[in-house]
Amino acid sequence: MSDIVVVGGGAAGMMAAITAGSKGHRVTLIEKNEKLGKKLFITGKGRCNVTNAADVETLLSNVISNKKFLYSAFYSFDNNALMEMIESAGCPLKTERGDRVFPQSDHSSDIIKALEKLLDKTGVEVRLNTTVREVIVEDGKAVGVRILKKNTNHTAAKTMPLRADAVIVCTGGVSYPLTGSTGDGYRFAAKTGHKIVNPVPSLVPLETAEKWVSKVMGLSLRNVSLKLVCGKKTIYDGFGEMLFTHFGISGPLVLTGSCFYDPERDKDVKAVIDLKPALSDEQLDKRLLRDFEKNVNKSFINALGELLPSGLIPVVTEIAGIDRDKKVHDITREERERFLHTLKNLTLNITGTRGLEEAIITRGGISVKDIDPGTMESKIVKDLYFAGEVLDLDAQTGGFNLQIAWSTGHAAGDAV
Ligand SMILES: Cc1cc2nc3c(=O)[nH]c(=O)nc-3n(C[C@H](O)[C@H](O)[C@H](O)COP(=O)(O)OP(=O)(O)OC[C@H]3O[C@@H](n4cnc5c(N)ncnc54)[C@H](O)[C@@H]3O)c2cc1C
Repeated sequence: MSDIVVVGGGAAGMMAAITAGSKGHRVTLIEKNEKLGKKLFITGKGRCNVTNAADVETLLSNVISNKKFLYSAFYSFDNNALMEMIESAGCPLKTERGDRVFPQSDHSSDIIKALEKLLDKTGVEVRLNTTVREVIVEDGKAVGVRILKKNTNHTAAKTMPLRADAVIVCTGGVSYPLTGSTGDGYRFAAKTGHKIVNPVPSLVPLETAEKWVSKVMGLSLRNVSLKLVCGKKTIYDGFGEMLFTHFGISGPLVLTGSCFYDPERDKDVKAVIDLKPALSDEQLDKRLLRDFEKNVNKSFINALGELLPSGLIPVVTEIAGIDRDKKVHDITREERERFLHTLKNLTLNITGTRGLEEAIITRGGISVKDIDPGTMESKIVKDLYFAGEVLDLDAQTGGFNLQIAWSTGHAAGDAV
C-alpha cells in the first residue's frame, strides 16, 4: 500500500483518486476550490454530457490532438466502463442524439454526487481549499507536494510539504479559469523539465473583421453549412447551427470548426456560410424566380421574407450590391445571380478566436512525448503522473473531452 497524492478535484483527478483508492492505496485528493468538480458542474449547459456512447474507434476519430496517444487509455477504460461505474454509484444515464450521454436527471450535480460516493467508498481523503504550490522532486523521483491552505492568515501564510510515494497531477487546462483551471500543472511540469505545447483556446467562438455581424447579433441560423477556408485549403466543412454575436460568430458549428483552426498557422482564414445548403444553384435560382413572381411589384427587400430571417435580408442585399428599394421586376439577371452567389457564399474574414475565458477547452499543454501512454507516468520524473486536460489532448464536442479525462485519470490511478 502506498501514499498517493492527486492534485485537482476535476473529472480526471476524481477518477484517478477513485481508481488508486480502489486498489487499496492511501489516497489524498487535493482541490483548491471549496468543492469538487466546479467545471464538471457547468458542463453540457449544466446537464453534463458525461461521455459518448459510440464505439472506441469513433471516440478516437473525434479526438483532434494526439489520437494515437489515447489508444491504450481508451481501450483500457472506455465509455462503457465509465457508464457502468457512474450508474453503479446511483446515477442512471441516458443517451441522446449523436450518442451523447447525460444523467437521466439532466443535472450535472448528480454525476458529481456519484463520484463523491465512489471517493468515499474507496477511502479517498479529500482536502478542499488547499492549493498545491509545487511538486517535490528528489533524485529524479516525485516524493510529494508543497501545499498552501486557503484559510491561512496571509501574514503567516506558509507552505508545507506533504510526502507521498507518487503524485498524479490533474489540474486541467487554462480555459474558464474561474473554475480553478489556471494552468498550475503546466508550471509544475515545466519546472520539472517537461515540454509544454503552447496552450491556446479551442471550442471557442471566432472573431470577424466584418462589423455588420453586430447588427444581427443573437440571430441563430439552423441547417446551414460552414466552411473555414485558408487559401486553397478547406480546414473545416460542417453542417448545423450557428449564431451571430457582437464580435463575430459562435454556436455549435463554429465551436467545432474552431478545433481545426490555428491562428498561428492559418492566416487569412475565411468563414464561408451556405445559407441554403439543401438547394443546388439551379434549384435555388428557380426558388428565387418563384418568390420574385409572387412579389413582382414589391421592392426587393420586401420580397425575401420566405427565404431569409428578416434581420439578414438587408445584410445579404447590401453585400450582393443590390439597391434594397429596387422593384423586383427591375432586378436584372446579373443581380439575381449575384444575390444567389451571396446566399451560397456569405463570407466573413476571421481575425482570431475569443480568449481562453470563453473557450470550452484548451488545446496544447504538457507534451505527450514526455508521458507514457499506458500509465500516464512522466518519462522524465519517476512516480510523477499527469492526466486530463493538462496534457496536450483535445477533442470535438459530444462527451469526448470528458472521456479523455476519465480514461487518462483511470490509467494513472491504475498504474501508481
Ligand atoms: C462551459 C463548458 C462546458 C463543457 N461541457 C462539456 C461536456 O458537456 N462534455 C465534455 O466532454 N466536456 C465538456 N467540457 C470540457 C470538460 O469540462 C473538460 O475537458 C474537463 O473538465 C477536464 O477535466 P480535468 O479534470 O482534466 O480538468 P478540470 O475539470 O479543469 O479540473 C481541474 C481541477 O484542478 C484544480 N486545480 C488546479 N490547480 C490546482 C492546484 N494548484 N492545487 C489544487 N487544485 C488545483 C482546479 O480547481 C480544478 O478543480 C466543457 C467545458 C466547459 C468550460
